[in-house]
Amino acid sequence: MTNIDSEVTRLIQLRCAAAVQRADTQRAEQEREDACMACLSESRAVVLPYGCKCYCASCHARILAGRGATGDDEEDEPEPTSKCPFCSKPF
Ligand SMILES: [Zn+2]
Ligand SMILES: [Zn+2]
Repeated sequence: MTNIDSEVTRLIQLRCAAAVQRADTQRAEQEREDACMACLSESRAVVLPYGCKCYCASCHARILAGRGATGDDEEDEPEPTSKCPFCSKPF
């Protein structure tokens, strides 16, 4: 009897753990959806001219400040980072 009881308790605990894990995953996915495309940790705060919301304020400022000064001399793509990750339009 005690064995069955403890087995049932264990199964219930497992189910609870799985449910908690699912909730955590859903929350993480929601956070990712709202996370900045550059740093993936801050919430998106800047709306680009095309209506896309991709970056947090600091990454947006960093990308704008880094225009044409990214370090690597890719001449055919002078602004490699200041593009919308969704629609690829420059901003
Ligand atoms: Zn960011
Ligand atoms: Zn866009």
